[in-house]
Amino acid sequence: MPEAVLQRAASEMLDWQGSGMSVMEMSHRGKEFGAICTQAEADIRTLLAVPEHFHILFMQGGGLGENAIVPMNLSRGTTADFVITGSWSIKSQKEAQRYCTANIAASNAGDHHTRLPDPSTWQLSKDASYVHLCTNETINGIEFQQLPDLAALGSNAPLVIDFSSHVASRSVDWRRVGLAFGGAQKNLGPAGLTLVIVRDDLLGHALEICPSAFNYKIVADNKSMYNTPPTWGIYMAGLTFQWLLRQTEGALTGVAAMEQRNIAKAKLLYDFIDTSSFYVNKIDPGCRSRMNVPFFLVDESRNDAFLAGAREAGLLQLKGHKSVGGMRASIYNAMPLEGVRALVSYMREFERSHA
Ligand SMILES: *Cc1c(COP(=O)(O)O)cnc(C)c1O
Repeated sequence: MPEAVLQRAASEMLDWQGSGMSVMEMSHRGKEFGAICTQAEADIRTLLAVPEHFHILFMQGGGLGENAIVPMNLSRGTTADFVITGSWSIKSQKEAQRYCTANIAASNAGDHHTRLPDPSTWQLSKDASYVHLCTNETINGIEFQQLPDLAALGSNAPLVIDFSSHVASRSVDWRRVGLAFGGAQKNLGPAGLTLVIVRDDLLGHALEICPSAFNYKIVADNKSMYNTPPTWGIYMAGLTFQWLLRQTEGALTGVAAMEQRNIAKAKLLYDFIDTSSFYVNKIDPGCRSRMNVPFFLVDESRNDAFLAGAREAGLLQLKGHKSVGGMRASIYNAMPLEGVRALVSYMREFERSHA
């Protein structure tokens, strides 16, 4: 979370803008919360340049929830294609099997998820109801630098992207997307809120078994108020959206400014790792994630010492995911360049004193 957002929320915690209530005490149908929600929706539409024919939904259930909610709403019980690129797309494909035929169109498992399968090699189904990609594999540290043009690959299926871990870190080419979903907790706000952005024509095809609260058409028709939405999450994400809108880098603002900053942050860290013989990142440079940088100490017996020293230097949460091991620096939007500088200077000093 950006510190400015936390400060603002703290200052409004007991009394939101003279209403006499905390946001947590408001009715979700009252005018105060209505204003918060409407503003948040308008701001994320502006930030991500979401066209008018897409609905913005504030839901619950997280990324894993969407792994079931998407096939219940889009698959019509037929076939959906999955491009396997790492841990999260594997989970999505497995979950979807309960609702449809979940075809694996391509997989980079043979490369241990270190490079993206070239779109020209994808075996897309003839009549897939959708094609699923995880556009930033958080655990593996691999990111699509551009979205595939499915039409050019001979598919007329809508593209579904899980952008949980890089939403608002870069722009989205909506011409190539049918639906995007993301848990808020990486780049937008606290856990508990899920952002879904879905094209008009994809609503209204849900399976009978789909719970009403997870039926995109019902949620859209009720402006995310079919049931009580995660009000605190929407409020906090709304403050983050306003913070994002205020960010500038030279002439750039909002997400374009963040993207510039994220490129600089990632470059600083990858360049250092690549020039060091003490640390290594195994991901193909053409698809390295700007948000999640997994790296290994060449001598892994020093891992505990590295982490202990990092903690002492105020550098937290660097232990890699247990399925990958090593280290992982998650440098989301709220992490300033100075934070990455501090990490690199710690890594340099650790190398100097242990090499
Ligand atoms: C973190 C993350 C999720 C999270 O799912 P939850 O159900 O919210 O825990 C899903 N997809 C990706 C790519 C993620 O990084």
